[in-house]
Amino acid sequence: MESAISARDRVGVQDFLLLENYNSEAAFIENLRRRYREGLIYTYIGSVLVSVNPYRELEIYSKQNMERHRGVNFYEISPHIFALANNSYRALRTERRDQCILLSGESGAGKTEASKKILQYYTHICPTRNNTHTIRERLLQSNPVLEAFGNAKTLRNDNSSRFGKYMDIQFDYKGAPIGGHILNYLLEKSRVAHQNHGERNFHIFYQLLEGGEEPLLKRLGLEKTNPQHYHYLVKGKCPRVSSINDKNGWKVVRNALTIIGFNEDEIQLMEIVAIVLHLGNIQFDINRCRECTLFFFSQQLLGVDGSVLKEALTHKKIVAKGEEVISQYPSALSARDSLAKAIYGRAFTWLVQKLNQSLVYYSSKCSSIIGLLDVYGFEVFQHNSFEQFCINYCNEKLQQLFVELTLKSEQEDYETEGVRWERVEYFNNKIICDLVEEKHKGIIAVLDEECLRRGDASDITFLEKLEDSLGGHAHFVTHKMANGKIRKAIGREEFRLVHYAGEVNYNVSGFLDKNNDLLCRHLKEVLCQSGNHIVSQCFHADELMDQRRPETAATEFKLSLAKLMEILMSKEPLYVRCIKPNDAKQPGGFDEVLVRHQVKYLGLMEYLRVRRAGFAYRRNFEVFLERYKSLCPDTWPNWRGTLPEGVATLVKHLNYKPEEYKLGRSKIFIRFPRTLFVTEDALEA
Ligand code: ATP
Ligand code: MG
Repeated sequence: MESAISARDRVGVQDFLLLENYNSEAAFIENLRRRYREGLIYTYIGSVLVSVNPYRELEIYSKQNMERHRGVNFYEISPHIFALANNSYRALRTERRDQCILLSGESGAGKTEASKKILQYYTHICPTRNNTHTIRERLLQSNPVLEAFGNAKTLRNDNSSRFGKYMDIQFDYKGAPIGGHILNYLLEKSRVAHQNHGERNFHIFYQLLEGGEEPLLKRLGLEKTNPQHYHYLVKGKCPRVSSINDKNGWKVVRNALTIIGFNEDEIQLMEIVAIVLHLGNIQFDINRCRECTLFFFSQQLLGVDGSVLKEALTHKKIVAKGEEVISQYPSALSARDSLAKAIYGRAFTWLVQKLNQSLVYYSSKCSSIIGLLDVYGFEVFQHNSFEQFCINYCNEKLQQLFVELTLKSEQEDYETEGVRWERVEYFNNKIICDLVEEKHKGIIAVLDEECLRRGDASDITFLEKLEDSLGGHAHFVTHKMANGKIRKAIGREEFRLVHYAGEVNYNVSGFLDKNNDLLCRHLKEVLCQSGNHIVSQCFHADELMDQRRPETAATEFKLSLAKLMEILMSKEPLYVRCIKPNDAKQPGGFDEVLVRHQVKYLGLMEYLRVRRAGFAYRRNFEVFLERYKSLCPDTWPNWRGTLPEGVATLVKHLNYKPEEYKLGRSKIFIRFPRTLFVTEDALEA
């Protein structure tokens, strides 16, 4: 199969393991650049795939190209996202171990695009079973729906994921994809009511206005289709983006919703989009709202009497000592915004549940899983708030997983197995994860404490508490603590975290409110009565009875990430490390400083060193023997020796050269992937 790799594909080295000067960062980057210039965006470091965003359509994702990768070994073909997908699928089939593919890299690096290619590959290549056609289509179509509601244009990326997504693709015992399940993480719902300059709200708002059919828009009271008419769409001053075709986007979403089988839910969902737009247009001047708008959408769309909604938006109701006390709101506008955010946020979770129901295939059992993780990438803006804090914390956790599962555990393995090798130093970002999440004294703990405290608790007292408890930490700085130049670069209302991927200043303004994420009781009551059945499913009356305080947003996020880490740890991980080559989203542009920074913080050089100094594969003696003993039929099944002796006999029979492997106490270590692939091929012959 060597011919599958053309001369052009061989520009530079296609696996960094083959790089002569593997200690040189300059050589590493030069190899990336040379290949990128030729349109070769993929390069391996062993089994890790490094991908550089081409910012243009490449003709490498066709169905024929998928076919080329079917059943072909990793090393026989040039690096490709399909080869990685195929590798993971082969391992799933042969070793019967659940897999997960982890996509990482900063915002705009290409994670979401890569995850879509992987899904396309599986739905096209894997064997089919009766009646699974619909499920496959639904798996594919879940993407445009989630992107419409959960992605938006930011300054970093025109199609930036504003939620985290982990998707299980479920396979039956014959390896046919038969279903899926999606877990969603913390949607950036503040975007519903506010966007920074140059950014947009979620795509669906513009898609509906631009592409929605006239009768539908009329029914929703959205006859005015220019986004400029909607308060929630004008904040970023960027209603149209050249790379985005909202009209077309609308068609794609409609088609996807039909395939998934939304039926009458579709209209209810669009009603929610319209409710949010109308809510944004309610203006309060000294608590007088434009009643006609309010009454129209309240009655028609939300199914709530207009005066009831108005009362709830302007008057707060609290239950004190068993009695209801009603007082006027300090700010009706902020009540309106919390209402819009709560409706949209919960509707998004409802949407994910609805997709999940459509991805259940009843007539067959799931026997194995490939998980795909695509979360929002690390991001730094001029102004960073609670949302960036959560997003960047999530990226720290993923980096931590990479460190734990590759750099750390591989090296520890050599030590426990007594295999000689040279130690590689690396930066362990656990210290930053702890800084954020540690019990009692981490940033989240301090934030929660301030949220619970009544009286004078404010964003500023939160900052002061952080200074008290974290002063002196190497990764935490504030204006007060800093000196000289650094001091000037940190605002008085900011704290700076030195993340694995760079420094970020977070402005504390809004942290307490966003973390509390409480919708006042009065508004909840209104939503429980809603005639829109998605809204009424999202807001249960039971919630009103429950006196317990819900988890804060940050703690809930922290707990859900901990669960995610458990899921990922239980599977065999494969990594795609995505690199953003330039900030201008320009095809062909390769900004060396930017790339070097990413190569550094993604730990690619360290990983290369660990791999070069070490071994590509390791297998327990037992697993190795079980799998390959049939290649030595003269000795087995009558072999009576110990496991290590058995493995030694087998590798001798397989003609492994001494430099190709080492035997530890309980595992065999194989230096090059090729050795194992050749053995695999012999098995299939
Ligand atoms: P975020 O963290 O903001 O969600 P991301 O890593 O998911 O970022 P993508 O949305 O996948 O980034 O990629 C950003 C843009 O880059 C895409 O919209 C597309 O225009 C381009 N792009 C990424 N990967 C590819 C590719 N393989 N081929 C062509 N274009 C690509
Ligand atoms: Mg994305």
